[in-house]
Amino acid sequence: MQGLMQDQPLLISSLIEFAERHHGDAEIVSRRVEGDIHRTTWRDVAARSRQVANALDQEQLLFSDRVATLAWNGYRHLELYYGVSSSGRVLHTINPRLHPDQIAWIANHAEDQILCFDLSFLPLVQAVQSKCPTVRKWIALCDADKLPADSGVPNLVSYETWMGEHSSSYDWPSFDENSASSMCYTSGTTGNPKGALYSHRSTMLHTYASAMPDVMAMSARDSVLPVVPMFHVNAWGIPYSAALVGAKLVFPGPWLDGKSVFELIESEKVSFAAGVPTVWQMMLAHMQGNDLKFSTLKRTVIGGSACPPAMINAFQYQYGVEVLHAWGMTEMSPLGTLCTLKNKHLTQSQDQQMAIRMKQGRGIFGVEMKIVDAEGKKMPWDGKASGDLLVTGPWVVKEYFKGEADPLVRDEQGRGWFPTGDVATIDADGYLQITDRSKDVIKSGGEWISSIDAENIAVAHPAVAMAACIGVAHSKWDERPIVVVVKKPGAEVSREELLAFYEGKTAKWQIPDDVVFAESIPIGATGKILKARLREQLRDYKLPGL
Ligand code: ADP
Repeated sequence: MQGLMQDQPLLISSLIEFAERHHGDAEIVSRRVEGDIHRTTWRDVAARSRQVANALDQEQLLFSDRVATLAWNGYRHLELYYGVSSSGRVLHTINPRLHPDQIAWIANHAEDQILCFDLSFLPLVQAVQSKCPTVRKWIALCDADKLPADSGVPNLVSYETWMGEHSSSYDWPSFDENSASSMCYTSGTTGNPKGALYSHRSTMLHTYASAMPDVMAMSARDSVLPVVPMFHVNAWGIPYSAALVGAKLVFPGPWLDGKSVFELIESEKVSFAAGVPTVWQMMLAHMQGNDLKFSTLKRTVIGGSACPPAMINAFQYQYGVEVLHAWGMTEMSPLGTLCTLKNKHLTQSQDQQMAIRMKQGRGIFGVEMKIVDAEGKKMPWDGKASGDLLVTGPWVVKEYFKGEADPLVRDEQGRGWFPTGDVATIDADGYLQITDRSKDVIKSGGEWISSIDAENIAVAHPAVAMAACIGVAHSKWDERPIVVVVKKPGAEVSREELLAFYEGKTAKWQIPDDVVFAESIPIGATGKILKARLREQLRDYKLPGL
């Protein structure tokens, strides 16, 4: 017997319709490429996304055709999020920090037909346009009078000219909720990038889940600043969840330095922000250097790579901002876990609470997790056993766009699990702790050493700005950890002092064998340390005494 409830597809268009009807006057504030502040509302974004849809019809773009963006966080990008997906096309957000050859490779693989870009990326577009034969129109996200003359880019038009002449009436079509809505390529740190193709259904379920109280807990009272880019897994879903709850949205554009982000948080009374640790590092340094305090910020989601305890401490106890440590990946839309305390933790000491906050958090309803050993056998949730992490759920990929091999691992019931490539423990309360990427794990004398732990200790030292721990070959132990360290400007610490700093904070055999001081550490397109490149840079390094 079937249930007797209405069968309505879950479509992204319903979000923008809801936002327009129920909180049309909530503000969308953007710092533009030009540096000025632009203000609009959900109502106007809804109207202009319908103009975008009409413009796409005029271009004769078919259902599921791809429209790409190379763009910062801003209102025009938001209009494309809704106009492209709601009309049945697929929004392909490209990470502009990738190498131009990779960008061309991705645009060709996705067969993008139109590419919209912020003017800061004009040189990038000039470099790749001749290598992107499927792109038939290039749209600069600017006013008509800002369109550069003689750019050398064929079929270039300003966004305002392109969509501005169209009507803002449009009836959003209804279609299968499993249709593709948007896509995002993994950063390709190993091999070619792979395309995660999200559907309307997966996006809508992820949107509902991400707004829950123990997830992002967003509401119509929030002013939300996604520092995480809209080209990095849909800014962790915030452009959708903000529409669902009616939050004010604040976009930083390209202005991501500590001073600009701090000023925007203050001037727009931001209550909730989201970003990767490297961005917050810059902002905290700015605040500490200038003796600044937040007046409105209450919560921040930090994820994308492990948030060092020193950062959690600074936000939580120095500035009174609750840190929601989160873990996820492109293949997971991206949310997997998020760290909030349970009722029983509220009476615990600050140290006990910190021990929990450092973990990546509990699985969000909708994502199932398991850790397995080398034979694929399930390992216990005891907070000690560490194994390969696999996940399954309605917003987890089942295959890659035009992918060849089936990426899933089947269990005895035939259920497909996605191998995350992460190594983790899960404790009895369900809190996940990532110890490493499987390829970054350091194996010393048959035991695993967590590079994340070693990095967290180093960055807790007041003289250390950044640290990366890698394994180097060792004749007796196979591998031993060393830590590569960038010092804060003007700060001093010696190798011996830093190694002494580890004592008592971790088991003796897990203390790195050496410290290598460096001017910088290579960072990838999504703000993560590129360990493969670091290992390459240190290929001639020899451990002392060997
Ligand atoms: P890519 O996989 O393309 O590098 P993603 O943004 O999808 O880019 O990265 C996902 C990976 O980032 C995860 O598999 C994990 O290794 C790492 N990661 C994400 N969040 C955290 C976190 N809070 N702590 C530790 N690692 C994290």
